[in-house]
Amino acid sequence: MTKLSQRALEIGAKVEAFVRETVVPYEQDPRRDHHGAPTDELVDEMKMKARAAGVLTPHILPDGSHLTQLETAHVLQKSGLSPLGPLACNTTAPDEGNMYLLGHVGSPELKERFLRPLVEGNARSAFFMTEPDGGAGSDPAMMKTTCRMDGNHWVINGRKTFITGADGAKVGIIMAKADEGACMFLVDLPDPAIRIDHVPNTIDNSMPGGHATLTIDNLRVPADQMLGEAGEGFKYAQIRLSPARLSHCMRWLGCCVRANEIATDYANRREAFGKVLIDHEGVGFMLAENMIDLKQAELMIDWCASVLDTGSLGTVESSMTKVAVSEALMRIADRCVQVMGGLGVTDTTIVERVFREIRAFRIYDGPTEVHKWSLAKKIKRDWKATQI
Ligand SMILES: Cc1cc2nc3c(=O)[nH]c(=O)nc-3n(C[C@H](O)[C@H](O)[C@H](O)COP(=O)(O)OP(=O)(O)OC[C@H]3O[C@@H](n4cnc5c(N)ncnc54)[C@H](O)[C@@H]3O)c2cc1C
Repeated sequence: MTKLSQRALEIGAKVEAFVRETVVPYEQDPRRDHHGAPTDELVDEMKMKARAAGVLTPHILPDGSHLTQLETAHVLQKSGLSPLGPLACNTTAPDEGNMYLLGHVGSPELKERFLRPLVEGNARSAFFMTEPDGGAGSDPAMMKTTCRMDGNHWVINGRKTFITGADGAKVGIIMAKADEGACMFLVDLPDPAIRIDHVPNTIDNSMPGGHATLTIDNLRVPADQMLGEAGEGFKYAQIRLSPARLSHCMRWLGCCVRANEIATDYANRREAFGKVLIDHEGVGFMLAENMIDLKQAELMIDWCASVLDTGSLGTVESSMTKVAVSEALMRIADRCVQVMGGLGVTDTTIVERVFREIRAFRIYDGPTEVHKWSLAKKIKRDWKATQI
């Protein structure tokens, strides 16, 4: 197995200590919006402490360089030891993926204006791709939002849905279609031309701002705020896709490690029928299965991270990993709830929250079935190639 660098071990240890000592006590903090998500006030307070502890945006070094994906896996998993950890450490979605994309594709001017406040933890961002009304979803090619040139501006029109954090974000990355193909734009938020129609209550609620449905009505964006080239939007989405997908696996693995610690503690203390629960084979086996699933998830993440570190887009590997890890984490979260009996479904611990979050994770960044479908297409392609 690839050995972790000393710097990753050191950063990971600092992040873990911060999350366990400083962030975990915030888990019972009542500052939540009406959808149950942590308020910006709460997040900013935790970020201030992370900054002071030297663990804010720990995966991006002071010189602007990014840790390798393998190193990132270690650090982001530690930040995920609490559902609030990624918010406190600025390793959360969608900001982490947006920072990665801007760092790789943004011009120096766009980086200075839009990336810097994100890295410094002074703004949050949103990524606008999915659409209501039969537009882009599992199939992004169905995109209906349009952009057209008018003088030295692009004019964007359309509707978007499930846009995490759009409500309250300061930076937006919007995808729209021009005659040349898909395009990506950097925009300041809020903007009167972007109207939030609705933020539904969802099963998950760890992300500030929730997941908004909104209307973009004649939004005028200066031409120099296009990310890269017109028509290349899907290519840039691919650059973001695998690392962003993998980083969800990293953070939620951390959360499941902690949920499993809580369930293990319960099973070792609580007695039924004359012995502690863990001594009942039904419970002991659930924890043993968690142990196996946790290790398999970790190994898949490290394998995919190593592939990305070779410079590969890792599309196939990240699809395989996203399916394997999200499904394994769902099993783990479910067993943790079960081991803890009634307590498992209450908000006394993070276990029920982790269960709800992982349920949503099986859908975003590609539902399990869509990944399997694209893997099956690859299997067929590869088979065909052997028939020539
Ligand atoms: C919590 C959350 C946060 C999100 N955040 C964002 C965000 O910030 N920005 C953004 O742009 N989007 C975001 N999304 C949207 C997300 O990317 C989409 O929900 C996802 O791509 C699926 O699209 P859809 O919801 O339109 O499902 P649909 O396309 O309607 O698909 C529904 C179901 O059909 C099945 N299916 C679809 N295609 C196939 C296939 N080829 N083979 C087999 N089965 C298939 C799958 O089971 C799938 O779950 C978020 C979603 C959620 C739930």
